[in-house]
Amino acid sequence: MKKGLQQDVIKRLEDIVGEKHVLKDQLSLEKYSKDETIGLQAFPDVAVRVRTADEVSRVMRLASEYAIPVTPRGLGTSLSGGSVPIHGGIVLSMERMGELLEIDQENLMAVTEPGIVTGELHRLVEEQGCFYPPDPASKDSCSIGGNVAEGAGGPRAVRYGTTKDYVCGLEAVLPSGEIMNAGAKVVKDVTGYNLCQLLVGSEGTLAIVTKIILRLIPKPKMKVDLLAPFNALAPAAEAVSEIIREKIVPTAIEFMDNPAIRLAERYLNKKVVFNTAAAHLLVQLDGNRKEDFEHSMEKVEQIFERFGAWDLLVAQEPEAQNRLWEARRCIFEAANRMGVMYETMDVVAPRCCVADLVISANEIAEEHGLEPLCVGHAGDGNVHVLYFKRDDMEKDEWARVLPMASQSLYKKTIEMGGKITAEHGIGLTRKKYLSMDFSPTQIDLLRGIKKTFDPKGILNPGKIFD
Ligand SMILES: Cc1cc2nc3c(=O)[nH]c(=O)nc-3n(C[C@H](O)[C@H](O)[C@H](O)COP(=O)(O)OP(=O)(O)OC[C@H]3O[C@@H](n4cnc5c(N)ncnc54)[C@H](O)[C@@H]3O)c2cc1C
Repeated sequence: MKKGLQQDVIKRLEDIVGEKHVLKDQLSLEKYSKDETIGLQAFPDVAVRVRTADEVSRVMRLASEYAIPVTPRGLGTSLSGGSVPIHGGIVLSMERMGELLEIDQENLMAVTEPGIVTGELHRLVEEQGCFYPPDPASKDSCSIGGNVAEGAGGPRAVRYGTTKDYVCGLEAVLPSGEIMNAGAKVVKDVTGYNLCQLLVGSEGTLAIVTKIILRLIPKPKMKVDLLAPFNALAPAAEAVSEIIREKIVPTAIEFMDNPAIRLAERYLNKKVVFNTAAAHLLVQLDGNRKEDFEHSMEKVEQIFERFGAWDLLVAQEPEAQNRLWEARRCIFEAANRMGVMYETMDVVAPRCCVADLVISANEIAEEHGLEPLCVGHAGDGNVHVLYFKRDDMEKDEWARVLPMASQSLYKKTIEMGGKITAEHGIGLTRKKYLSMDFSPTQIDLLRGIKKTFDPKGILNPGKIFD
């Protein structure tokens, strides 16, 4: 164990959660020293696996008394270093708080603990004919609490919005240890400043979320997925803008360029359909009225054809649908597991600018000698740009050019009216770029909010800003 925590503090933590839920040895702490952000690692002094809000409260009172840094952790899939404990101290793991407490059919709401896996929550509410739309590609490995903390999105954001659009109420523990409730099981609420929504997307820096009230909607009756290959990037991206201009609102419009298709092939170790295409578009439509559904499907097919798609795959059965999504879903995992050096950007621009954004990302890569890969939720303007180190590039050169390339892409995005992160958060990896997007006054306002919630600066310190 590192020098950090005194024995009596460890003992008090063990009294709160039980000895076996305070992890201290390096081997056990390895898992809590990183998330899915490539190249980041920092060990905590201890990881504490809490079970109840009361335990969280008692841990925070202790941390506050001794000014110990605390990093909340869901299931560690953050792509911006959010759950890496860069100042050591305590990792507060929510993995044991994984129970879905209630599906309230009368109010169409779910009440859940934060540690449940998002995909499991989907399954449980769908069994009861309900639907919780936000679906990060990591849904089978991330937690709903992590989604709330990151304001997570996902493919279905085009039609249904993101996590923030479904959170009606929260129970949260403040850094002082006090338990607070914000919002309620209601669909309208303008009582004072919106503290509930302030916590959504606050990246574990203001409070620890211990209970979540989510709005549900009825599960759509029909769903279809369409995959089309294109010979060039620009027409594929323009087809996305055309779908929106035609006022069709698909559930999802996903985009993959050829490097993404090839990476998925290497990772999955099998041929991906239409693998010579410059880009794939994957559109999902859902609905309840057959006529509307078929009309949208026809329109999308016509647009694909008009913009040069040379073929089309249509999947209406779950197994075929999963096959169409397999390549798109595995990209980050593939990039992480291939042992290559890369950086992910999570830029978002007005939807009409998707073509320009993809072209700019490629031009910037070429200018700096990097290998680009673009994949993303193109239907909502969010493109994930991955810049890879070329094999023949020295590490020093990579370290020199990468910030320049990132900065150029962020500058271009902001000029288009976009933002530097759509769903992965500022965390650790983007904090040096925050001032490109926010004025000093805005950053001062953020700091003021942080100070009000966390005067001692103990909760997830070093994230969003120093
Ligand atoms: C393969 C892959 C695909 C992905 N696809 C998407 C995608 O499509 N859309 C998307 O938005 N993201 C995506 N992500 C990013 C990531 O999955 C999300 O940010 C997710 O919301 C993180 O959840 P988690 O439980 O893993 O949280 P963690 O990584 O453990 O934590 C994330 C942040 O939330 C804080 N936190 C966690 N739980 C709590 C809590 N209960 N209270 C307060 N703070 C808390 C942590 O301190 C940290 O700052 C992807 C990641 C991977 C690896």
